Amino acid sequence: MEDHPRALLSAYGLTPKKRFGQNFLIDGEATHRIARLALDGASSDAPLPILEIGAGTGALTRALLDEGGDVTALEIDDPLVAILRGRADLAAATILHGDAMTFDYAAFAAGRRWRATGNLPYNVGTPVLMRLVEMRGGPETIVAMLQRDVVDRLIAKPGTPAYGSLSIAVQYAMHVERAFTLGPRAFFPPPKVDSTVVRLVRRDAPAVATRDEALFMQVVRAAFAYRRKTLANSLMLALVLPREPVARAIADAGLEPEIRGEQLDLAAFARLADALAAGRL
Ligand code: SAM
Repeated sequence: MEDHPRALLSAYGLTPKKRFGQNFLIDGEATHRIARLALDGASSDAPLPILEIGAGTGALTRALLDEGGDVTALEIDDPLVAILRGRADLAAATILHGDAMTFDYAAFAAGRRWRATGNLPYNVGTPVLMRLVEMRGGPETIVAMLQRDVVDRLIAKPGTPAYGSLSIAVQYAMHVERAFTLGPRAFFPPPKVDSTVVRLVRRDAPAVATRDEALFMQVVRAAFAYRRKTLANSLMLALVLPREPVARAIADAGLEPEIRGEQLDLAAFARLADALAAGRL
């Protein structure tokens, strides 16, 4: 097929670049499935603008257009931008040349409601996702393809090995669900690991109320800083605090003295952060 990434690249004398995480989707059915998920449940007649991150040779861009999306596609690699701009069937999409790590998402959104999607490059997938999750006025929904083990961490529940500060930071702001997983053969060239599509939907309000959001995240990171230690010891070491106020805050939050950080759900972390804040007054 002439729109196979291999054919598109070779027409321009190119090969996939590892440093940009270039593994292009070649499974047409899966590509349309991602596009439908990314555009699903639009709550207004006019489709919300959707930003595709890492458009590559345009497989998902084309599927998003086919499914009726109002598409802007961002790509870092100059020659791929040339391919995208050269594809007549992508003429309805706005193609931007830029870096997802430094891109001005707020300027793109311009106060509108919007969505994001992408088969994210492995090297920057997690930090890009976190920028979208944590930004003010961020996308209402994000449908992203990431390594399977990263998605395991995003959806992890307390008491499981994958549970950590990433799970909490994401679940605080978004509802998160695994959509489906693809093996290496869905891509050209095939990556070494499985990839999973995850769907994130922004909550109307954060999952838990806390007095000080920055302190809440600081406490979460401190609780997981020393995974083999008790919560009390990990907090003391990471926050450089004496035992007494830490032990008191743990008790005030209604938690057992020997509990480990990985056992706390979001509500327990919020109580703990509030108890630590109260102890500082
Ligand atoms: N969407 C295409 C597909 O599914 O076939 C390509 C996906 S490929 C996994 C990731 C794409 O992101 C590549 O085209 C790569 O050049 C691009 N990319 C890598 N780092 C980027 C960055 N920092 N900002 C924007 N695009 C980036």
